[in-house]
Amino acid sequence: MIIIRSKKTLQKYTNKYKKQSLSVGFVPTMGALHNGHLSLISTSQQQNNITVCSIFVNPTQFNNKKDFEKYPTTIDTDIEKLEKTGTDILFLPSVVELYPNGVTNLEYYELGYLETILEGKYRPGHFQGVCQVMYRLLNMVQPHNLYMGQKDYQQCMVVKKLLEIMQSNIQLHPCPTLRENDGLAMSSRNMRLNVNERKLATAISTSLNNIKNNIKKESLQNLIENETAILQQQGFMVDYVALANANDLKIIDDWDGELKLVALIAAYLNEVRLIDNMLVN
Ligand code: AMP
Repeated sequence: MIIIRSKKTLQKYTNKYKKQSLSVGFVPTMGALHNGHLSLISTSQQQNNITVCSIFVNPTQFNNKKDFEKYPTTIDTDIEKLEKTGTDILFLPSVVELYPNGVTNLEYYELGYLETILEGKYRPGHFQGVCQVMYRLLNMVQPHNLYMGQKDYQQCMVVKKLLEIMQSNIQLHPCPTLRENDGLAMSSRNMRLNVNERKLATAISTSLNNIKNNIKKESLQNLIENETAILQQQGFMVDYVALANANDLKIIDDWDGELKLVALIAAYLNEVRLIDNMLVN
């Protein structure tokens, strides 16, 4: 695996791949890699000649300073894991490399409705930061295919919108969420949970499964209220339990029994904010 830190060196390689007509798959991450990340790498490897992974903890997408400061970094084991998978290139830029003019007064993306709900509502500015970093990374890596996790369902939609804004031909491939044996969605933030919190954390996927199993039996309102209460009783501070149209994330209160729905939850266990979602029908 080649480790590249500068835009200039990266472009030397991407230009070479272009000349050779090699397809490039890209997996952007913030590191602290787990099997969920590695599953994206594996999918990219199956579908492309070259796979590029980036590790960059993007300061502009953290609306909470503490969350940024405490974001786990495990770069040595990340490199080992990527070497083992046979990743071709690890792009490891610095903040200055990606944001040579600093991280304030950056460009604004018109994301419309998507930025007003769920993660957009509870993490103001987060998706602007996601777009700011993705725009830069995509221009540097110039991939044909982009692999992102459905674990971050709304993020996939935001990046789809960004690609439209950029009038880009890059194909976005949303990939399934990998879970621990007890159902907890794999996440770098899980490392920050203590033993007790780690046990409690499974309640989020349990709630999503409850919604899935009872979606035809109860009103959406009841389901949401019950699962919110159950999470709160277990010590979670719930940002939202929501049901939305799986295609456009419009929040659904009144369901016709047919429309494809996604259930989404965001909740804090003490300082750690966890998110998860599930297609329910
Ligand atoms: P992150 O490092 O958290 O920014 O995640 C990098 C990419 O991995 C994003 O596209 C995530 O959606 C994806 N990802 C995170 N957790 C999982 C998971 N449990 N299963 C599959 N993909 C994931």
